[in-house]
Amino acid sequence: MRKKIIAGNWKMNKTPSETVTLIDELKPLVATDEADVVFCVPAVSLTTAIEAAKGSNIQIGAQNMYYEESGAYTGEVAPGMLTDIGVKYVIVGHSERREYFAETDVTVNKKVLKAFEHGITPIICCGESLTQREQGVTIDFIRQQIKIAFLNVTPEQAKTAVIAYEPIWAIGTGKVATAGQAQEVCKAIRDCIAEIYGDAAAVAIRIQYGGSVTADSAAELFSQPDIDGGLVGGASLKPDFGRIVNYK
Ligand code: PEP
Repeated sequence: MRKKIIAGNWKMNKTPSETVTLIDELKPLVATDEADVVFCVPAVSLTTAIEAAKGSNIQIGAQNMYYEESGAYTGEVAPGMLTDIGVKYVIVGHSERREYFAETDVTVNKKVLKAFEHGITPIICCGESLTQREQGVTIDFIRQQIKIAFLNVTPEQAKTAVIAYEPIWAIGTGKVATAGQAQEVCKAIRDCIAEIYGDAAAVAIRIQYGGSVTADSAAELFSQPDIDGGLVGGASLKPDFGRIVNYK
């Protein structure tokens, strides 16, 4: 039985002091043993967030990471810097990073490998555009993203990864995928993992849905057999996130 994982992606929101206020507010609302709860905060707030979340069930994740150990990469954050302060998760390949910061399937793969090397769990994002959905190529496109993201990842590592299926047309638009649409793609992702690694990895890996999840849509989405929780943007910054985490 897979434990659900519900992660908030704060994107470029909240200063370090606002982070403390929001974590204090959300702490009692997201308390549960039934799901892993992760807050992915801006890099500058990671240390503050880890401190603020101490003693709670909230784990802190980064929203990005570079794939080199150190060196002349101005503005980047190295994996060792994240583990040094206690970061457990990192979002890799979010569609906003692909669109605005030239992230590609190849750099996603490099980051995934580096995250595993450092014992950080990657939350690997994939998702089709509206045009791809309308052209009927969604599953082919997602399979390609997954196959490249997992190049040279071992079966043992794959079992511990988290994949976030986030249709681009649903992110920040208020247009949530239907439970049927989300389940269809999450099942196809699990089938793809089974083809690469076999059934044990496919059964173990956790696959989230992301894209305009709200307290009203969470229960139906997260009850689908191949959806193991969500990656939540806008609604993770509000008390509503407590209702999403405790969706049952
Ligand atoms: C996201 O940022 O990953 C996301 C799904 O955003 P939203 O929930 O706001 O659509």
